[in-house]
Amino acid sequence: MRKRIFLSIRSFLFLSLCLAFYACSPSKPTTPSVIFQSSVIDALSQGVFEGDLTCTELLQQGDFGLGTFNDLDGEMIVLDGQVYQVKSDGSVLKPGPSTQLPFATVTFFRPDQKISLDKELSYAQIKDLLDAALPFKNIFYAIRIDGKFSQVTVRSVPPQWKPYPDLAQAISEQRIFQKNDLAGTIIGFWFPHYAKNINAAGYHFHFIDRTRTFAGHLLDARLISATASIQSVYKLNIALPKTANFDSTDLTQEQHVIIPEK
Ligand code: ZN
Repeated sequence: MRKRIFLSIRSFLFLSLCLAFYACSPSKPTTPSVIFQSSVIDALSQGVFEGDLTCTELLQQGDFGLGTFNDLDGEMIVLDGQVYQVKSDGSVLKPGPSTQLPFATVTFFRPDQKISLDKELSYAQIKDLLDAALPFKNIFYAIRIDGKFSQVTVRSVPPQWKPYPDLAQAISEQRIFQKNDLAGTIIGFWFPHYAKNINAAGYHFHFIDRTRTFAGHLLDARLISATASIQSVYKLNIALPKTANFDSTDLTQEQHVIIPEK
């Protein structure tokens, strides 16, 4: 009997020690999700196509995202820590680490919600389903959709020369590419309406296929089946370019160009 009491006391002490250790041990740091962007959409819309941030510096701020390159030389996709450059002839390159960019949006992708898109859906229907899945409309979201598509239409843009035209004029020279029956990933963000001078309000998506040979700014898609992963973000970091192109551009006027889709 005495032995059993002694064992119970010993078990109690051991349990207490464990609880004390658990209570005192430092909790794992939980860094909040942050979206980082270089420049602002109003500057890009006004023809600020020259930035000072490099691809290496961009990857220090995120492993997932989209943007463009200096001189508006193609569409940018950042996926799983790799930067891809889609030239206006449709070729997909891996740009050098010192390649500079005027505008990009990235985050370290850590989804907090997944939804299954397991039926045929048009691009408009995909966005309707995402609309229903985004819990709040006043915060930012990073969105990744991995799946199979019966059709994807993308575009890229040819490089521009100084003095730069505005974005709408540059996009009027876009080249459009379409591919059927492919697997790939849609990469993008949703920004609230109030952020329309900072980034593209609503959805902005780029696409890259599984073979990393077909990519661009997404214009249209027909989905067969996919999984959408969504990350809610409450924090935005903006780094403004230290370039004469940015400094000399008048950003006092309201801009109405928001990444036209077609
Ligand atoms: Zn785009």
